[in-house]
Amino acid sequence: MGSILVIGSGAREHAIAWRLKKEGKDVFLSPGNGGTSLNWINKILSKDEIESFCKVAGVDLIVVGPEKPLTEGIADFLRSKGFWVFGPGREGAKLEGSKVFAKSFMKRNNLPTADFVIYEDEGSLIKHFDNCKYPVVIKADGLAAGKGVIVAHEKEEALEAIGFLKNNFPEASKYIIVEECLVGKELSLFVLINDKGHVVLDNARDYKRLNDFDEGPNTGGMGSYSPVDDLPEFQINKIQNNIVEPTIRALRKENISYQGVLYFGIMLTKEGPSILEFNCRFGDPEAQVLVPRILNFSELLYVVAKNEKIPEPKISSKKALSVVLTAKGYPNNPETGKRINIDERIFEDEDVVIFYAGVVRDKNNLFTSSGRVLNVVGMGDTFEEARNKAYSSIKYINFEGMHFRRDIGL
Ligand code: AMP
Repeated sequence: MGSILVIGSGAREHAIAWRLKKEGKDVFLSPGNGGTSLNWINKILSKDEIESFCKVAGVDLIVVGPEKPLTEGIADFLRSKGFWVFGPGREGAKLEGSKVFAKSFMKRNNLPTADFVIYEDEGSLIKHFDNCKYPVVIKADGLAAGKGVIVAHEKEEALEAIGFLKNNFPEASKYIIVEECLVGKELSLFVLINDKGHVVLDNARDYKRLNDFDEGPNTGGMGSYSPVDDLPEFQINKIQNNIVEPTIRALRKENISYQGVLYFGIMLTKEGPSILEFNCRFGDPEAQVLVPRILNFSELLYVVAKNEKIPEPKISSKKALSVVLTAKGYPNNPETGKRINIDERIFEDEDVVIFYAGVVRDKNNLFTSSGRVLNVVGMGDTFEEARNKAYSSIKYINFEGMHFRRDIGL
């Protein structure tokens, strides 16, 4: 087997590369970040540069971490050049890249999801808010850096949300979806798919709000844990029978070839599980607690990419919990350029890992470079142990303005 290239710069890609390295693989990370101490390339490579780099470096598998290059068709391009690629082509990635496509796909295939209306004309859209039921969920069609979904509790708020989306993401907001607000606990479920079949990997739960007890603005994710241990058997069966199996059948029926991971964002409502969204890649911060627990991870990635029959995942019985450390001012105006101090004692415990994200390196010093700076992941035989390991290690890290939630996994 050759080497593996992981494309991306966040903690998710660090976790993927870390696990592959643990399985003895030769791994490159592009562009990576200042904190990733693997063979990283530190440059965003163009499609052609990736092709020539992989040829020179003997890379045979390319794992695409983020959604943007997938929706732009990077997987189709690299497959056409003869590489094995983990990640769907442009058509499959539309399940995340266009919410209009995803919701229409769900509707015509009778998959459970919130009722919705799609608007292009702004006049009709605004009229919708005169006598709709509140709260209501407003979504931009296209990718909007995690900021494209807003819950509005009254007309004024809905109009403000439309203004925000149209101003900040004009392209992604050409079409707006207005949908029913669902209530319940959320769950992220990850399923590996290729043309030969599919297997359910495992699940995780993430924390989207900035502050403890789910207060403050929505963020890219402040922490996560895996597996989710409060799911009754009947819910697991419903998710399998009403969501996963019918989605796979729908992909086959519509001839959408998909080689990668499909992330189901699910709301566990009183009426049963309902699909909030599809993502065409691993979640961030869910990957940081899911990937370290998958013991045959490299085998699975290769098999999916090679379109061979996918074996059962070997999942560690350990629990994992991640706490994201963020910069002051995140998510709106994160302060950057702050020196990150890390006490070496944090590396003494094998069950504690740091996955870096918004970090740059200057000689031997690390500095913050964006809002979500790094993740501290704790692993243990119980959630309590995983939680204690993560939280008791944070005392070894500091940077000016450091913020984190204290209630992850409580
Ligand atoms: P999405 O990108 O569609 O998953 O939306 C991001 C987040 O918005 C989800 O993880 C939910 O927390 C929330 N959300 C999305 N759709 C709904 C809905 N119909 N009802 C309630 N919350 C929602």
